[in-house]
Amino acid sequence: MNVIEIISTVTKIQARSDRMRRQGKTIVFVPTMGFLHEGHLSLMREGKTHGNDLVVSIFVNPTQFGPGEDLETYPRNLERDLELIRKEGADAVFTPDVHEIYGERFQTYVELEKLPNHLCGKSRPVFFKGVASVVAKLFNIVKPHVAVFGQKDYQQLVIVRQMVCDLNFDITVIGSPTVREPDGLAMSSRNTYLTPEQRVSALSLYKSLINAQALLERGVQDASEIIDSTTNLIRSCPDTEIDYIAVCDPETLIDVKTIDKPVRLVLAVKVGKARLIDNILLKP
Ligand code: AMP
Repeated sequence: MNVIEIISTVTKIQARSDRMRRQGKTIVFVPTMGFLHEGHLSLMREGKTHGNDLVVSIFVNPTQFGPGEDLETYPRNLERDLELIRKEGADAVFTPDVHEIYGERFQTYVELEKLPNHLCGKSRPVFFKGVASVVAKLFNIVKPHVAVFGQKDYQQLVIVRQMVCDLNFDITVIGSPTVREPDGLAMSSRNTYLTPEQRVSALSLYKSLINAQALLERGVQDASEIIDSTTNLIRSCPDTEIDYIAVCDPETLIDVKTIDKPVRLVLAVKVGKARLIDNILLKP
């Protein structure tokens, strides 16, 4: 069994990273909020192909949750997470508490001007400010050469890439494919909120993405037609409340009217208590 370092202070993990860099190691970083599933584990496996020192963080970041969101009830299981991370052969886990990351007088945030104005940013106004800020901090704390993020959180991936470019972080960002349950539902820590009936409705997200792909293959290039069909499919399932369904440019996230180049179909739907997101690349 490999020995894994479990570190919860900033100074200790920074000192460790400095040591690893002096030894010529390539540090790969996978940030998570814990309650790990196969999606997270796939990022670790992907990460291992890009370097030889794998660091995973577990931190439920309060600044990305708005009032009334699920910060308090967000699922947690540290012991199980550590066991899963150990099995993946990671070298270190960073598990800070909130005070370690946000000291008493914390007041510096990272905000992007345009990308957060679309999709999830519209209904979660503080979300990407919190995400960008904590990712920037974790980058300075863990000092990785490479960082791996899931394509499931597509807007987050685009925002992190933009921030890395704008702020000149010397870090390669890898976008890793979405891992799904056997029936197609994208894995998410929040799937645990679903009742058995809602779990059936939740599958409509994936089904609607596949339906959209089929429509495009049949020659439907009008984005509004694709969005209407996606909307109807999801609405026909009980306990679903659509936040948004958008066909957008994969880089700017600006709405596209006619699909004459690759686009992302991106959606967010509340199924019961769970706010679920998913997306697909549509190629004409
Ligand atoms: P979270 O713990 O939800 O903050 O997610 C941590 C990382 O895992 C993010 O980069 C997510 O995009 C990624 N992730 C979450 N679910 C999946 C999934 N089903 N497939 C691939 N990556 C995922």
